[in-house]
Amino acid sequence: MNEEFVVDAMNIAKSYNNITALTDFSLQVSRGQRCVLLGPNGAGKSTFLNLVLGVLSVDQGSLTVFGKTPGHISVRRRTGSMLQISGIPSTLTVREHLKLFRTYYHQPFSTDELVHIARLEGLERRTFGSLSGGQQQRLNFALALCGNPKLLILDEPSTSHDVETRLALWDEVDQLTGTERTLLLATHNLQEAEKLGDRILIFHNGRVIADSSPEKLRSMIGTTEISAQTNVNVEVFESNQQVKRIEHVNSHLKLYVTEAESTVSQLLQLDPNLKNLAVQPASLQDAYLHLLAPTQVDEHYRTSV
Ligand code: ADP
Repeated sequence: MNEEFVVDAMNIAKSYNNITALTDFSLQVSRGQRCVLLGPNGAGKSTFLNLVLGVLSVDQGSLTVFGKTPGHISVRRRTGSMLQISGIPSTLTVREHLKLFRTYYHQPFSTDELVHIARLEGLERRTFGSLSGGQQQRLNFALALCGNPKLLILDEPSTSHDVETRLALWDEVDQLTGTERTLLLATHNLQEAEKLGDRILIFHNGRVIADSSPEKLRSMIGTTEISAQTNVNVEVFESNQQVKRIEHVNSHLKLYVTEAESTVSQLLQLDPNLKNLAVQPASLQDAYLHLLAPTQVDEHYRTSV
C-alpha cells in the first residue's frame, strides 16, 4: 500500500439500511493539507470522518489512511480526533484524563503542554462531569492532540465556545496544522472555515460538489459585493461581463463582480437616487450559498487547490 496520500478514498459508498450517506465518493488528501468539510446537515460529513477513523466501514470502494486500512493500530497512533459525541467518563479529573490518554501513544505532548494549548489552566483537578460545555470541549481538544497526531480530525470543535476561547482555539489549530500535520475539520462556521482551511470541500447529498481554496471559491461568484436599495431594471447587468451574480429582492440589490468601479458607476448612472450603497469583499458564505442554491447543486465544481 502506498502512503502518497494521508487519506485516499476511491469510489466509496456508505448507506445505513436504505439511507444513502455517501455515494461514488472519491477524495485524496495530501500531507499537511488543511481540509474543511462544509455542507448542510445530512450531507455525509460525519459519515466520512467516521469511515476515516475506522468507526464505520465502507460498503463499496476503497479507503486507506496513511496507506493502511482505517482503524489499524499504526493509523490510530497517528490520528487524533474530536467528535461531537465523546463518551468520556465524567468522574475522572482533567489531569487524570490527560495522563491516561498519554499512555496510549509513543510520543505524546506533555500534560503541561496540553493544559496550556487547550487553555485548561486552573481546571486540572476538576472532574469532566463538573465542567461547562465549552470547558469539556477544550478537554476533548486536548485529548485529540494528546498523541501529537499527524492527522487531526475535528468535528465542529468550537460550537460551545465563547468568542475569546473560539479565537484562541483557531490560533492553536492554525499553528499546529499544515506542513507535517494534516487537518480534517467539519464545521458550519464559515469564519472558522476561512481561518483554518486551505482546501474547502462542500458536501451535498453524499458527494463533494466543490473542492477548492477559499480564494478560488470566492472568485467563482466575483471578488466584490456591491449592494444598494434601488428599483433599477437589473436586466442591464446581465450583459456586463464583470457581474457574476445578481440578486434583487424587495428593492435590495446585490451584485457580485470581478471589478467594482465601472459597475458602481453604471449603477449610479442608472439610479442616481439609490440608497445605502456599499462595496465590500465577497465572503466565503456568499460563495457557499451560491453553490448550494437549487439551480447549482446538480453541477460539480472542482478546481485545483
Ligand atoms: P452530516 O455530518 O453532513 O450532517 P451525516 O454523515 O451525519 O451528515 O449523515 C448522512 C446521512 O446519513 C443523513 O441522511 C443521515 O440522516 C444518515 N445517517 C447518519 N447516521 C445514521 C445512522 N446511524 N442511522 C441511520 N441514518 C444515518
